[in-house]
Amino acid sequence: MALIVHKYGGTSMGSTERIRNVAKRVAKWARAGHQMVVVPSAMSGETNRLLGLAKELASQQTGSRGHDRELDMLASTGEQASSALLAIALQAEGMEAVSYAGWQVSVRTDSAYTKARIESIDDERVRADLDAGRVVVITGFQGVDDAGNITTLGRGGSDTSAVAIAAAMKAHECLIYTDVDGVYTTDPRVEPDARRLKTVSFEEMLEMASLGSKVLQIRSVEFAGKYKVPLRVLSSFTPWDIDIVEEAKSGTLITFEEDEKMEQAVVSGIAFNRDEAKISVLGVPDKPGIAYHILGAIADANIEVDVIIQNLSKDGKTDFSFTVHRNEFAKAMDLLKAKVLPTLGAAEIVGDTKICKVSIVGIGMRSHVGVASKMFRVLSEEGINIQMISTSEIKTSVVIDEKYMELAVRALHKAFDLDHPPT
Ligand code: ADP
Ligand code: ASP
Ligand code: MG
Repeated sequence: MALIVHKYGGTSMGSTERIRNVAKRVAKWARAGHQMVVVPSAMSGETNRLLGLAKELASQQTGSRGHDRELDMLASTGEQASSALLAIALQAEGMEAVSYAGWQVSVRTDSAYTKARIESIDDERVRADLDAGRVVVITGFQGVDDAGNITTLGRGGSDTSAVAIAAAMKAHECLIYTDVDGVYTTDPRVEPDARRLKTVSFEEMLEMASLGSKVLQIRSVEFAGKYKVPLRVLSSFTPWDIDIVEEAKSGTLITFEEDEKMEQAVVSGIAFNRDEAKISVLGVPDKPGIAYHILGAIADANIEVDVIIQNLSKDGKTDFSFTVHRNEFAKAMDLLKAKVLPTLGAAEIVGDTKICKVSIVGIGMRSHVGVASKMFRVLSEEGINIQMISTSEIKTSVVIDEKYMELAVRALHKAFDLDHPPT
């Protein structure tokens, strides 16, 4: 008998029929003798619907703490509804089941509304239920801060709830059930020839998630790494009554042992991100303190910066470009125009929201040279202009025009032989 955490995403919870299927699957696991904690997302489309309603009432991002607090009050209800429905479906299957909102089992977070971080989980109440033979359903995506305010963990945050709960409960395994049957070499919706990986190293998964592969929220991977939570991504669309031993081996396992990957490909996956925008400050005097002057103001406004480049100076002037999340683009532009442009003596600030970032990821890149140059060659052969480049030990990212994203992903997927298993 083991303690197992299941997480079901929005599509997997998308209708009463699908919720019934989830209940049957969970009941199968419980009847096989496991203690079960289940973390559902809101039914598909519900979070967007709720946030859309708020936007109708206040289309301008106020950025005020008050507004964000209410967004979390609002968005958290999606998971509360789906959790209650799942508990009802489990009871209809003859299981004893109870559902809890995050605050009821003390999923404590900081107070950063809409992007809160889990700080601790008090598992006492959950353990008592499990010991009494109940299946426990806990809302994904949400928590409570020290002052008792409901918080949410950022889009895709139910993954993080599940892994954090698995870590706190010292679960045997955390299974992330979703609408694809594992982690692929790239998003199978963009490249139909993408191949499912049987295993992916924790480090690669961390990069893929941070570079835009939304199959797992980045913080869930961070938690899994920090607490060594065994983590598997698998399909919720297999028949619920498939053999449990087979099911437990399906999908993609996130591994912590690098040796298992020794024989594998140099590049394991391709990630892309359409959520960034580029800002260029042109004609900046080339003198010490410039990067700090520009990016310090951005950081003070709590805006995250990703890729940064500064060009060679000509006549004592240089251009400075960086990317931010598209949601924060307008805020960053306003801030730069109001605060930085007048004091810096820069000529102009230009923005571009029609960009995307495409990245190749692989721990094999550590020991192979020429991988990045091959990437640049492939893109040039497709006539794709590279606007920015950023590299680290196990990844190379390029910023390109958004309209070439799919072409770039497919060309790279082919060039790095990702459609064939490594030999
Ligand atoms: P859920 O609602 O279950 O959390 P998400 O939509 O958040 O599901 O994540 C699953 C989706 O992630 C898939 O449908 C797929 O389009 C996308 N995805 C992006 N990159 C990958 C990848 N490398 N492997 C598998 N799926 C990926
Ligand atoms: N319902 C939330 C979202 O749509 C959280 C999640 O699905 O993981 O982002
Ligand atoms: Mg998700």
